[in-house]
Amino acid sequence: HENILQPDAAINEEGRQEESIRPQRFADYIGQKDLKDVLDIAIEAAKSRGEIIDHLLLYGPPGLGKTTMAMILASEMGVNCKITSAPALERPRDIVGLLVNLKPGDVLFVDEIHRLSRMTEEILYPAMEDYRLDITVGKGSSARIRSIPLSKFTLVGATTRVGALTSPLRERFGLIQKLRFYEVDELSRIVIRTAELLKTTVNCSGATEIAKRSRGTPRIANRLLKRVRDYAEVKSRTEINETVAAEALQLFQVDPCGLDWTDRKMLSVIIENFNGGPVGLETLAAATGEDTQTIEEVYEPYLMQIGYLSRTPRGRVATKAAYQHMGFKPPNEQLS
Ligand code: ATP
Repeated sequence: HENILQPDAAINEEGRQEESIRPQRFADYIGQKDLKDVLDIAIEAAKSRGEIIDHLLLYGPPGLGKTTMAMILASEMGVNCKITSAPALERPRDIVGLLVNLKPGDVLFVDEIHRLSRMTEEILYPAMEDYRLDITVGKGSSARIRSIPLSKFTLVGATTRVGALTSPLRERFGLIQKLRFYEVDELSRIVIRTAELLKTTVNCSGATEIAKRSRGTPRIANRLLKRVRDYAEVKSRTEINETVAAEALQLFQVDPCGLDWTDRKMLSVIIENFNGGPVGLETLAAATGEDTQTIEEVYEPYLMQIGYLSRTPRGRVATKAAYQHMGFKPPNEQLS
């Protein structure tokens, strides 16, 4: 069963199409103003000194544009971007192979960087700090360390869990930046831009309707747009307006706020079984069948962003807005 609200990386057909709609330049990258301001300066400064950009760690929920930003950074600097992820760097020779092939200034993008193996991480330390590869040759008492110089490069690490990075690794990043969920107006600009690339027509209110249901996430916005486009085509509608978008997304059971089954289940457990909370993370995980990590990294950040959930020292609490959205009468405010 496909869940169209999952922000996880795209697969198959969607993956291939994604490359054609991915913004290529800074100017096309919508939103994330704070991040762009910081990187703008870093790029200008690096260019004027003829140097490379400091290692950059990007963190935040999936689908917000970390990979895209790494690629843009490389293209703005006129260098290549090599893309990999920690699970593909299991053996030391995987990372060594990548490092020795980097050209001066290249960007190496490592997704899920909190999952690096210890050996890979230790190879990265001198590589990041001194652009040097330390290799042990020989065994036992005759073992020696040989150093191989590397081209200067920029490591861009991406993670959903900045707290899971070891501190020696975290300390080697000169820039650490958080990506935040997108606002509805930013997402609707993304929808309009993607619609143009897909040669489909969407008006402003249609784009807003899709944006509101996209969980603050560009990847989801683009995916919902494609589903709405299918619907509009089948129903012979020439333009995607608010009604068409709402009809289509209702058909795909996308809630007006972009909540999916798991979000709704979490809220209903808190409200119905625990009187609004507080409820522990483990309980929510058990009730929804998700692991605690996914609840913490994917579900909770969005529910907190839209003001439906708050975290307290004793557990998670459903807000008044959550009661209203779920169709329950909020608890008597005099009692709370
Ligand atoms: P993950 O964390 O899962 O690797 P990600 O944060 O790297 O995800 P991307 O693959 O960069 O996410 O972005 C997903 C898609 O969303 C891209 O293909 C792109 O089309 C679109 N997108 C992301 N950010 C923006 C943006 N700021 N403006 C326009 N489109 C964007």
